[in-house]
Amino acid sequence: MSARGLAFKDIRRIVVTHAHVDHFGLAAPIVAESGARVWSHARDRWWLTDFENEVTRRADFYRDAFAQNGAPLELANAATRGMAGVMRYATAIPADRFIPIDDGDSVTLGGDVWRVVYTPGHASGLICLYEPRSRTLISSDHLLRDITSNPVLEPPTRGESERPRALVNYIASMQKTAQLDVRVALPAHGEPIEDIRALIAGRLAFHRARLDHIEQQLACCVSTAYELCNVLFPDLKSVDVFLGLSEVIGHLDILENEGRVRREMRDGVVRYIPTKK
Ligand SMILES: [Zn+2]
Repeated sequence: MSARGLAFKDIRRIVVTHAHVDHFGLAAPIVAESGARVWSHARDRWWLTDFENEVTRRADFYRDAFAQNGAPLELANAATRGMAGVMRYATAIPADRFIPIDDGDSVTLGGDVWRVVYTPGHASGLICLYEPRSRTLISSDHLLRDITSNPVLEPPTRGESERPRALVNYIASMQKTAQLDVRVALPAHGEPIEDIRALIAGRLAFHRARLDHIEQQLACCVSTAYELCNVLFPDLKSVDVFLGLSEVIGHLDILENEGRVRREMRDGVVRYIPTKK
């Protein structure tokens, strides 16, 4: 920035594609120096403006989620400690600096008009930005070239009672993105993506296969999300257990939606029972 004669104080607008710490951790110090406004999806409001309370609220939700899904307490504690370590990298921005944006809104950046494309899944407030003249998509963590995006388990947003069905939403968001005419997608991590339709087709097939695999495991061998997590990803530690559980629960949500499994609560633990005879 300084090579171009610019400093943090020159920034007027920050667009946060989703409220994960590696995407907005520096927003607060930049806002403090520049007074910039932070544009993000309305669902990210509390993460960005009331960060500390949101961290506490989520930690409580995750502790319950671990227990309900059959994970041992010491693993839950290790995962919560791992998450707390990541949370050190962000602080809240003042509430009056937050500007909510939604699907179809426009954001002018450097003379180009970018359209907001709401693509919940990896995070419930995730937006991509699309510029139709150059057919460029800023895909954030919605589409990554070399790894699948985790459908991160989230508590209900404040004011709602149901948690987002992350992978259900993510599949729908991928199908929506595949409708766009995209020459290149620029993800937040890793290399550009030249053919998003091929990538999305591959991802959808991958999740289909994983759904079948999970259904088979439930039919023969296991019944909780944590047991499935151990089958799919043995030996996970710390915060990775949380990501593994998120992946499994995302698939179980789809199987439940499709009527392929039903849930049963026994001794405080959710068990998934295949419905196919
Ligand atoms: Zn992310």
